[in-house]
This record gives sequence, structure tokens and C-alpha cells, in this order.
Amino acid sequence: MSILTNENYFDTENQLKYFGSSQFKSFMKCEAATMAEINGEYEEPKSTALLVGSFVDAHFEGTLDIFRAKHPELFTKSGDLKSDYRQAEYIIQRIERDEMFMRYMSGKKQVIKTGELFGVPWKIKIDSYHEGKAIVDLKVMKDFEPIWVDGQGRIPFVEAWGYDIQAAIYQVIEGNNLPFFIAAATKQKPESDIAIMSIPQEDIDIAKSIIQAHIQRFDDVKKGLSEPIRCEKCDYCKRTKVLTEIVSYKEI
Ligand SMILES: [Zn+2]
Repeated sequence: MSILTNENYFDTENQLKYFGSSQFKSFMKCEAATMAEINGEYEEPKSTALLVGSFVDAHFEGTLDIFRAKHPELFTKSGDLKSDYRQAEYIIQRIERDEMFMRYMSGKKQVIKTGELFGVPWKIKIDSYHEGKAIVDLKVMKDFEPIWVDGQGRIPFVEAWGYDIQAAIYQVIEGNNLPFFIAAATKQKPESDIAIMSIPQEDIDIAKSIIQAHIQRFDDVKKGLSEPIRCEKCDYCKRTKVLTEIVSYKEI
């Protein structure tokens, strides 16, 4: 059995073997797209906004050199960082100016753990791990405003992005019921906002019950026992859509 490392963490073999926070949330959105991603048949395009976050992550992981080498598109022909990504440097500087933020980011970086939850194996990667004290996850986001979710209305961004789900998974797999904190910075211009946010235990417990309600179905899909359902809304479903009939405009 191979050991899980930063290098093989997202390999197909390990994506198939383990559930993870992002994978579970992806299954919640579209089973078909998630299976295509796991099998390497589809990759969601990486947006500029996403790469700004990844740049900040890489800085605090201490892996910025590797990140730069993997993403030459971040640089101009003369070798300077493109203006879109220079914002990432402002965000890093803003974070580094705050003593409390830096204290929360001073734990062990990118700590990988595996364990079992609701009968299936999971893997987690902790951004900043304060053993025996806290789990800290760094998030770089648009802003701290609530987000519109179809069927639910405007809800807190923590719930819209499933950070409560992530907190539940990390807390159980880490195994010591530690508090989960989000160390957050925004991509707002000209000034980035920062915060250290807690997620109340009662919200984490509700998130656990959501995981429990869906995990068996997703495990069956991963094992090929059930056909993945297409959401018919995401980019993957649009890309692979095959027309077979005429539909009334009222159904679209
Ligand atoms: Zn879909």
C-alpha cells in the first residue's frame, strides 16, 4: 500500500480510494462531472480568481517555487508577475501584517491524515495544524458577503461553499474533536479584508448529518454499483450533452 503524500494526494488511484472534502462537495453538485474528473476524463478550467488563491496557498505552504514553475502563464514575457496575480502578493503582505492571523497560520503545514467516517475511507490535508489545539484552513475568497444558492436564497458563504462540511470531515478524521478555524482573506480591491472565523459545533454536527445522508450513494457511484447522475447544468454536462429529442421551451 502506498503512503499518501503531497505528490500523490490527487492521483486517480487515491481519488478513487479515498473520499475528500472537495470530492464530497463536488459529488453534491454533479456526480457525472465528479466521476469524469476522478477518471481523468475532464478537468475544470482554472480561472484567474482560483489561481490567485492557489498562489497565496503556495506561499504559506512554502511551495511557491514549484507553483511558479507549474504556472508559467502567471508571468509576462519579461518575467514579471502579471497584474492579476500581483494582487496575490498584496493579499500575502496584508496577512503578514497581522500578528493574530500569522499565529493561526504558524502550525504544521499541509499535514495529511486518513481515517474512516460513515464506513468509507477519507483523506484530509490540514493547512495549519496546531496539534492538540486547532485545525486551521486558509481561504482566499471574493468577499465575506452571503451567497445566493438556488432553492435556499442568500446564505452565509461558509455554508454556500461547504466549509461546514469540510470542518466536519477534518474534525472527525483528525480524531480529537479540535475546533476548526477559517483563516480568511478577501480578493477585494484595493484593500483585502481578513478574519479568523470559527464554525460553531452545532453547525458542524448538522454538516455531519448531511454527509451521512449522501455518502452511501456516492460510494456506490465510485465503486461502479450505481450510474452517476448528470446535473445537466454544469460545464461538464453541457460539454457532453447529446441531443436526442425536441423539448418544449417551458422545460428548459
Ligand atoms: Zn453536471
